[in-house]
Parts: sequence; C-alpha cells; structure tokens
Amino acid sequence: MEIPPVKENINKRFMVLATCISCAACWKHAPSILKSHEVDAYAFFYKQPETQLDLILAMQVIHLCPVNAIIDSMEKNEEENQV
Ligand code: SF4
Repeated sequence: MEIPPVKENINKRFMVLATCISCAACWKHAPSILKSHEVDAYAFFYKQPETQLDLILAMQVIHLCPVNAIIDSMEKNEEENQV
C-alpha cells in the first residue's frame, strides 16, 4: 500500500510522507523549506524550493531522513516512466 504524504504537502514536488517520526533532522538541516507541524510535530514542506540552494537542501534531506519519509515526486515519476 502506498504511504500518503502529510496533508500540507499534497500535490507538490517535494513531500513528507505520513511515516515521518519527527526526528527533526530535516527541518534543522533545511529550515528555509521545512518545519514541524505545531500540534502533531511531523515535518512538512512549508515552501517548495525556489532557489538552487533550497533545491540542493531538498535533495539532501531525502538522504538524511532515517525512515525515507521524504520524496521527490518528479524522481518517482521518472522511475515509473522507465518501467
Ligand atoms: S528527517 Fe524524516 S523522520 Fe525526521 S523529521 Fe524529517 S521527515 Fe520526519
């Protein structure tokens, strides 16, 4: 079963999935694009990358997340098109 993104991220390029364990690694590494939900503490992209630096940070947090809860939907679509 596919894991859904948290509701703040739906239909955006970079998304945090519902499997986030709120470890804080991503929003500490990339505070210009990620933050934690005020009540539920999970991470979400409050802004999509608009600069080259933010794009690099978004790519980095994908690999930083210990539970693979951050995805680039463009990358996923490219993989599906190659199958
Ligand atoms: S790094 Fe992953 S698990 Fe940690 S807060 Fe960010 S999305 Fe959640």
